[in-house]
Amino acid sequence: DRKCENCLVEKSFQDGEIHEAEEMVMMKDGRPAKMLVKSTPIQNNAGSIVYVFETATDITGKKQLKEKIGPTTGNLQKAVVERLKELQESEEKYRTIFENSKDAIFLTDLSVKIKEVNQAGVALLGFKTKNELTTSQSVTDFFEAQKDLSKFQNELSLKGFVTEFETRFVGRHGRAFDALMTSNIIAGSKGRNVGLVIIITDISKIKHAQQQIEKQNIRLSTLNAISMTVNSSLNLNEVLEKTIDKILEILESDSVRIYLLNDNKDELVLTAHKGFTENFIAKQFMKCRKVGDGLLGQTVLTGNTKVADNVLRSRDPYVDSFIEEGLKSTIYIPLASKGESVGVMCVSSHSIYQFSDDYVAFLNAIGNQIGVAVENANLYENIKTAYLELKDAQEQVIRAEKLASLGKLSATIAHEINNPLAAVLTYAKLMLKLIDRDRFNQGKLKDISRYLETMKRETARCGDIVKNLLDFSRQTKISIGTHAIEEIIDRALVLITHELEINNIRLEKQIQPGLPMVKCDFKQTQQALLNLVINASEAMSEGGLLTIRATAAEHDRFLEVVISDTGCGITDEDLKNIFEPFFTTKDAENGVGLGLSVVYGIITGHNGSVDVKSEPGKGTSFIVRLPAAYTGRN
Ligand code: ADP
Repeated sequence: DRKCENCLVEKSFQDGEIHEAEEMVMMKDGRPAKMLVKSTPIQNNAGSIVYVFETATDITGKKQLKEKIGPTTGNLQKAVVERLKELQESEEKYRTIFENSKDAIFLTDLSVKIKEVNQAGVALLGFKTKNELTTSQSVTDFFEAQKDLSKFQNELSLKGFVTEFETRFVGRHGRAFDALMTSNIIAGSKGRNVGLVIIITDISKIKHAQQQIEKQNIRLSTLNAISMTVNSSLNLNEVLEKTIDKILEILESDSVRIYLLNDNKDELVLTAHKGFTENFIAKQFMKCRKVGDGLLGQTVLTGNTKVADNVLRSRDPYVDSFIEEGLKSTIYIPLASKGESVGVMCVSSHSIYQFSDDYVAFLNAIGNQIGVAVENANLYENIKTAYLELKDAQEQVIRAEKLASLGKLSATIAHEINNPLAAVLTYAKLMLKLIDRDRFNQGKLKDISRYLETMKRETARCGDIVKNLLDFSRQTKISIGTHAIEEIIDRALVLITHELEINNIRLEKQIQPGLPMVKCDFKQTQQALLNLVINASEAMSEGGLLTIRATAAEHDRFLEVVISDTGCGITDEDLKNIFEPFFTTKDAENGVGLGLSVVYGIITGHNGSVDVKSEPGKGTSFIVRLPAAYTGRN
């Protein structure tokens, strides 16, 4: 923590010389010791001191020995001989290490001229003998890039050493390799820098292996990303485009095309592509290709991968256009789904590219994924078509059932129209009689006006009934809107009130005030409720009570409409089947067996539900639940 008097390090810094002094110090264990302290300045090749090396050697034993031996120098010669022998052994030891090292070791002067090199170094740089290297070569001659050499020299002069420096070397006959360098400045006995020791390891193989692993990792993650896309999307075009992007992202190719077979399986149609000029891709033979035509057409025919690593040498009839586009190599990957050819993926490059086996395997793996995507898309298409067909069939059933209920209603409607018509007829006759008898005069005007008023009212009533009927029978497209349940119930009842009256059925309607609206198709919901009311009326051939109750359920999230009758009820046996299409317990005139299955279809189609409770001989309740339009009242 404090500079010593006569600081040796400071002296070395000032004059660039080695300094030494003996000092008495107290060792940790309390023993006094004599130390030889030595400071050595280390210079860089520009001659400036980079650091000073300070060593302390315990020479207590040596001193004592010297004192003991004193003037007796009899054994001196023997001691020198032994010391020399030791030195020789030590030198041999280091030489063996130097020569046998697998790493190249160079000893150079400060200008990096090679002074000494081991056999590994000679071989690494492609020389035969040491002499060829040590007479005229400098390590700097072998750097591939000038900027690496400058970086190396800079680092060395700044720190006095360089470790793990990676660069590329070019040895004799242009053999290039990746080199890992370590270097130290060697200080001579007088503290001057005398040269460098440079150790070079050829890491080309490790580098290559590393690059292969990286490449493999990138490919695996690409494949993984593609398979995730395939599994997360049913949109084939989206999958194909993302797949192409992924292939191009890994930069081993410049353009990709994906062709899929048409329905007739005789032509390949370009479905997705990237990396081409518009002109080229617009050519007819690029947009679609007959099976068997050119390398592309043959790939789908044989189901085998085709490689044109040099387009110039390929026998494709469209070679000229490819050359014009600057494409030099193309690989054709067959695409299959469930073992059947579905298309071809073509990956092209602007250079003559040697497609390695593992790159081909990688592209084939992508090809398999595309096959899966095509299969998924086909499945999806099939399901969609089946769904649409089913929906169509359901709509047809609903229409048929509507006609059936219209048939059932026509009798009561006719009856209902008959009454007002009879009134109109009566009044018309009455007025004609007045004319006949010439009594159609001023005095009768008041009566005539009353007759006409009645006729007007009654015809309007007929008009209303017919309008209701027409309205119900008209086929309209489904349109979901927000409606009040009471209005739907009333419009259903208008069509059947008279029938209820005839059958001696009392109607009770209980609508909870302030009910939320329902999100539904008005006509369909009306039809469902009407079907239930007709069934209830038919179940009470001897008359009875029909109750229609509408309440809110589950915190206003649903509306519950309960239609109850005091009719014949349903046996447990029948209860299992009533929602089946064409299940009926009625005779052919009265029952088709579609009413409840239509109710079920309509209500579940609105995300609602229908339940039934019945006791034979006592009556039946149908519970319809429909989602409310506003659920934000909590
Ligand atoms: P349909 O009325 O043409 O027979 P539905 O599908 O409407 O066809 O009804 C099927 C069967 O369910 C009826 O035949 C009847 O046996 C029974 N059913 C339906 N509603 C009731 C009800 N309210 N009371 C008693 N039975 C009923």
